[in-house]
Amino acid sequence: MVDFLLIGAGIAGLTAARQLSSAYSVVVLEKSRGLGGRSATRRLEGNRVDHGAQYFTVRDERFQEQVNEWLGQDKAFVWSHGFHTYSQQGLKPATKGHPRYTLRNGMNEVGKLLSEGLEVKTQTRAHKISKQKDYYLVETEEGQAFEAKRVIVNAPAEQALALLEPSKNELQDKLASVKMVPCFALMPGYPLQLAPEWQGIHVETESSLAWISHDSSKRLNPAHTVLTLHSTPEFAQVHFDVNPDELAQTMLTDLGKIDDRFTAPLFSSWHRWKYAQVSNSLEERFLNVEDSLFFCGDWCGGAKLESAYLSGLELGQYLLTLKP
Ligand SMILES: Cc1cc2nc3c(=O)[nH]c(=O)nc-3n(C[C@H](O)[C@H](O)[C@H](O)COP(=O)(O)OP(=O)(O)OC[C@H]3O[C@@H](n4cnc5c(N)ncnc54)[C@H](O)[C@@H]3O)c2cc1C
Repeated sequence: MVDFLLIGAGIAGLTAARQLSSAYSVVVLEKSRGLGGRSATRRLEGNRVDHGAQYFTVRDERFQEQVNEWLGQDKAFVWSHGFHTYSQQGLKPATKGHPRYTLRNGMNEVGKLLSEGLEVKTQTRAHKISKQKDYYLVETEEGQAFEAKRVIVNAPAEQALALLEPSKNELQDKLASVKMVPCFALMPGYPLQLAPEWQGIHVETESSLAWISHDSSKRLNPAHTVLTLHSTPEFAQVHFDVNPDELAQTMLTDLGKIDDRFTAPLFSSWHRWKYAQVSNSLEERFLNVEDSLFFCGDWCGGAKLESAYLSGLELGQYLLTLKP
């Protein structure tokens, strides 16, 4: 029996687990192969490409402290102070604003750094949490069963809700009230010399695209120029089950209207995010059921990587005040 079982190795969960691990036994279950959840990076033709979170901003000094540590280790850096916009008036350069940070080796490095020293079981998907007399039993799709005194769930709210016995109570109503929207990510690659002068473009016209990133501008020695295109939530909602080849073509055509050098990539990769961004979040930084079952994530108190970090931080700090 462990003191804490954590479901999901996203930024929130890892931040909580990191604090607890000095005082308690903690095991993390993660359904995918990688760590860091939506702060994700893929290897593509010798390149590292971010297909989830692209960068992060800092508003809270507690997160700034953590970011300063990553800056000091030369892992994070300021990628930009603002991005281009594409509107009816055409492409407009960025105005200088607050720093946008990213990780030199890809955004999944945030998960790697936060999980150092933790026991994480990857490719292990929790599918049911049940309360026993004085502990929790968590069963996985792979047929394993874990016993824990306390459980923390760091999964998008809808996935968190699916782990519980259906019942009508305030907790389940809260989880059900969180709305998240989908997103498609297309990562096309080009010859290295075809590097655009912009780092990122927010698309404000009617288009399948919401965001275009010059992803390879984050790397020290990229093998190719690689872009990351994110669709609008509406485009992903309407076309969620359509063949990706058709959708990729639509996104490339829309890219060509903004910058016609990029319509014919050498290669590309595709990712479909079902729960990409929070469209309405809860006010609480974490949810607590009888000081024994907890929920955290960006959807608690925000919608961004910083909110995920703060959710995990505040939960970890609270848990350290409880009696073992
Ligand atoms: C396309 C896209 C673009 C984004 N852009 C930005 C950006 O530029 N800036 C920014 O700040 N934020 C951005 N975000 C949001 C940012 O990625 C998230 O706010 C943050 O990463 C959320 O962290 P989290 O810990 O709350 O959850 P998640 O990252 O969702 O982590 C949850 C983890 O739980 C795991 N899990 C779920 N169910 C189970 C289960 N049953 N068993 C085991 N494991 C499970 C998942 O695999 C995942 O690893 C973006 C997100 C996406 C998808």
